[in-house]
Amino acid sequence: MKSEIVITDLDSINKQKVQIPSSIKLLNLKHIAKKNFQPGGETYAWMYVKSFLKSRHIGYTKNISRPNESRISCSRLSPYLAYGNLSSRQIYQFFNRSTKNRDIKNFLSRLQWRCHFMQKFDDEPEMEFKNINKAYDTIRNNYDENLLIRWKEGITGIPIIDACMRCLDQTGYLNFRMRAMIVSFAAFNLWQDWKNFSHHLAKKFLDYEPGIHYSQIQMQSAVTGINTVRIYNPVKNSIDLDPKGEFIKKWLPELSNIPSENVHQPWKMTLIEQQMYDFQIGKDYPNPIVDIDLSRKEASNKIWEIKKTAKSKYFGKKILNKHVNS
Ligand SMILES: Cc1cc2nc3c(=O)[nH]c(=O)nc-3n(C[C@H](O)[C@H](O)[C@H](O)COP(=O)(O)OP(=O)(O)OC[C@H]3O[C@@H](n4cnc5c(N)ncnc54)[C@H](O)[C@@H]3O)c2cc1C
Repeated sequence: MKSEIVITDLDSINKQKVQIPSSIKLLNLKHIAKKNFQPGGETYAWMYVKSFLKSRHIGYTKNISRPNESRISCSRLSPYLAYGNLSSRQIYQFFNRSTKNRDIKNFLSRLQWRCHFMQKFDDEPEMEFKNINKAYDTIRNNYDENLLIRWKEGITGIPIIDACMRCLDQTGYLNFRMRAMIVSFAAFNLWQDWKNFSHHLAKKFLDYEPGIHYSQIQMQSAVTGINTVRIYNPVKNSIDLDPKGEFIKKWLPELSNIPSENVHQPWKMTLIEQQMYDFQIGKDYPNPIVDIDLSRKEASNKIWEIKKTAKSKYFGKKILNKHVNS
């Protein structure tokens, strides 16, 4: 990271015209890009770098898990890194003089994680398709297309999940905690195999980077056997991280007229409350597709049953030896 940055003189390169065979279809990115996506290119990448150093980093650590605030106070450099508009070395050297600042320090440590995960993926690219721990291979067999469609389209009836899915579709971005939570919801509450939804998310994230993506999806689905099992409670996360429901109301206009205290669990509104705010659960917004508490408990039992087995421990040790201890 500290070595000199090589500047390539593009004019000195021996350029040749290439005839693209008609059999190769070029992607028309203009059709894919949406108006709320971050603009591409190196010029914008540097604008994001500079505005982050100037002021946006203030509150980085405090806001990193909040769905709304993190959109400003996180660096938002991930798409520029993924597309190669900037390298992590360029970013590291630009910020390195400010490492006494706690927020910048925390940000730089994540850049390091990025390298770690990408190296892991280079060593074991099969993790795009297979559990890195075989002990978990047969646990989620009940593929339910209907449940996954509701999840993908943001109509699960759990407002924070639906707001995340619709926001992701429109902007190509979610902060770390919300990404972890939507995966946790699909993997635990809906009990779906990550292989049936990982490619959908890969297409939606503007910063799609396989090295980080598949490691995280496997960790958040708890199929590694070596990481802490985290089953996020979407309602608790909603109340803690979006207390006024601003993020939810922005992405779910059908909930914009109900009071903030009801927005996290609209299915709990009484009939009188629904009438008062001209809102009908089941008509204006769906009932939850799953019982959060019950499904969480069932999922936790199933995962721990496997995690305790000798097989899970055996493969876990092998993973640690390969990726951590070697
Ligand atoms: C299920 C899931 C899937 C993810 N998929 C991707 C992905 O495809 N591409 C991607 O870039 N990040 C991914 N992440 C990690 C993280 O959510 C994003 O890197 C981060 O939200 C990007 O925003 P930022 O640039 O403002 O991050 P900042 O917090 O400003 O971090 C700076 C940079 O550090 C790197 N980074 C941040 N968090 C992590 C992390 N946990 N692990 C490794 N590197 C990290 C990124 O390159 C990021 O741009 C995923 C996380 C989860 C839970």
